[in-house]
Amino acid sequence: MASFISAVAKRLEGKVALITGGASGIGACTARVFAHHGAKVVVADIQKQLGHSVCESIGPSNSIFVHCDVTNESQIQHAVDKAVATYGNLDIMFNNAAIMDKMKPRIIDNEKSDFERILSVNVTGVFLGIKHAARIMVPARRGCIISTASVSSTIGKIATHAYTASKHAVVGLTKNAAVELGQFGIRVNCISPFAVATPMSTSFIGIKHEEVEKMTNSIANLKGVTLKAEDVANAALYLASDEARYISGHNLLIDGGYTIFNPSFTMFQYPADS
Ligand code: NAD
Repeated sequence: MASFISAVAKRLEGKVALITGGASGIGACTARVFAHHGAKVVVADIQKQLGHSVCESIGPSNSIFVHCDVTNESQIQHAVDKAVATYGNLDIMFNNAAIMDKMKPRIIDNEKSDFERILSVNVTGVFLGIKHAARIMVPARRGCIISTASVSSTIGKIATHAYTASKHAVVGLTKNAAVELGQFGIRVNCISPFAVATPMSTSFIGIKHEEVEKMTNSIANLKGVTLKAEDVANAALYLASDEARYISGHNLLIDGGYTIFNPSFTMFQYPADS
């Protein structure tokens, strides 16, 4: 029993994780949570200063920063090779980097160049991450790949056309890669959070951290709890850990039921005074 408890306390002991978009928001939080659970962490991002400060907060013996633009194949290749060269392996690939474009609700106002820019980071970046993780994981006959999608992977209108298309594509890539890589013992999953206050969401909506949380809580299905980056990091932790050893091809929604709730069904609502 004692060994079971200590295994759970350090759920990623001995593992090596690479996190794209690890300099900020959900990625930075996940880097800290993974390191807390014993993983060596490679923070890969285009934001050098922030990336280095995340690694400083984790501790230099447990993490390194690698400059990596996920749209650039040689940079992804380098980041993966750096993880292996530094820590001897790559057990967990977390394709988390993404960007959001400005909301232009009418599709006729959307530029092709903006659409392609979003897909380049949010889809091609994930494709390259899966490809280069597989390069290491297939010969090792093990590994875990997680990508960050969004509630926009299952529903429309909450984000832009490009972002919504990109997050649906992450689910497709996840399923296809899970089917291909299962024969090598590699699990491939994605996680889909509802709105979390991070630099991405605050700049997209144009309001402060607390105001994003207030707004999010007002439209959330699950009341009495505010979704935090830690909740998303804990979902990634679960998928990365051996506790999820038979979970593959899954899109784990972290949305408190938001995407299954249809507000037009009012018959189950309690009266306002209850
Ligand atoms: P964030 O902006 O705080 O972090 C994103 C990180 O990705 C940044 O550090 C940024 O520098 C990095 N990045 C951007 N382009 C890159 C590139 N080309 N190469 C490498 N790194 C790049 O945002 P976040 O909210 O933490 O987003 C993390 C993930 O969560 C994204 O995939 C996002 O789509 C997803 N997500 C966020 C929310 C939310 O409400 N914040 C909701 C659902 C899903």
